[in-house]
Amino acid sequence: LIQLYIPMNFLGVLYREVKQSLTDLDKMFSLLEREREVADPPGAPALKVSEGVVRFEGVGFAYDPARPILRDLSFEIPAGKTVAVVGASGAGKSTLARLLYRFYDVQQGRITIDGQDIRVVQQDTLRRAIGIVPQDTVLFNDTVAYNIGYGRTGADQASIEGAARAAHIHDFIQAQPKGYDTMVGERGLKLSGGEKQRVAIARTLLKDPPVLIFDEATSALDSANERAIQAELASASAGKTTLVIAHRLSTVVDAHEILVMEAGRIIERGAHAALLAQDGRYAHMWRLQNAGERGGANSGPEEN
Ligand code: ATP
Repeated sequence: LIQLYIPMNFLGVLYREVKQSLTDLDKMFSLLEREREVADPPGAPALKVSEGVVRFEGVGFAYDPARPILRDLSFEIPAGKTVAVVGASGAGKSTLARLLYRFYDVQQGRITIDGQDIRVVQQDTLRRAIGIVPQDTVLFNDTVAYNIGYGRTGADQASIEGAARAAHIHDFIQAQPKGYDTMVGERGLKLSGGEKQRVAIARTLLKDPPVLIFDEATSALDSANERAIQAELASASAGKTTLVIAHRLSTVVDAHEILVMEAGRIIERGAHAALLAQDGRYAHMWRLQNAGERGGANSGPEEN
């Protein structure tokens, strides 16, 4: 039995290693796959960000030509302001974020940053200018310090800790026996949805890009945690051009403009008060969400 056990155990370890490498490869290939969707034109210039004005001009896009996702979409995020996008699941909100980061190219219209079409500039300069806090952060199988420091090449321990403090994850990290050297990811410490998102916020704070994209998490967080994260996101976005894909309307109240999307089109737009006064779709969503929260969805004990 022992003879059998050892190779089986060895195989188990081997299996886990191989599975892990495959997971990593999988992630890498899915990124490469996206990379291959777009290419730099020869001699592409670097993106030059002066003020950080983002514009979508008549943007049309489909993943599959038979099924248009975005149609003739136009809006501007003025320098340092926040534009929030709300709407039903599948309306095309996250697609906006993917297009701005240039995972895909638009098929009609254009997206510009300070007047430069994002298709004609070097992709790495575009991506250096943009920080994304996604719904579901993928962590590397490495230390917490690495996962935060990845935001900026050559970041020292003090700045990593500074970013972690600002994202309210420092105390949690310090409480681990190995502190910032704690391994995270599938082979290390498993982090909750909220903790992962704080790591992503810390990474983005360290990167300190002029343009931010927040794709708010929904189910991963309980409401107390969600409010705490929203406060952190709000302070991270102060003075930066920010696109927020919002699932909870409480985050969008202060946005410069709110875009209400349905089936790839903007059906209402304006600031919170104006949209409420308009008494249309947004006002309806607002009433529904408030009724839901009064109904006890948000009455759990505060955390953190
Ligand atoms: P949610 O609020 O649920 O995140 P969303 O408004 O962000 O939704 P998107 O993720 O932008 O919606 O998706 C818009 C539509 O595009 C959906 O119908 C979705 O099925 C489709 N879609 C998204 N990604 C792909 C893809 N990679 N290939 C094909 N279709 C896709």
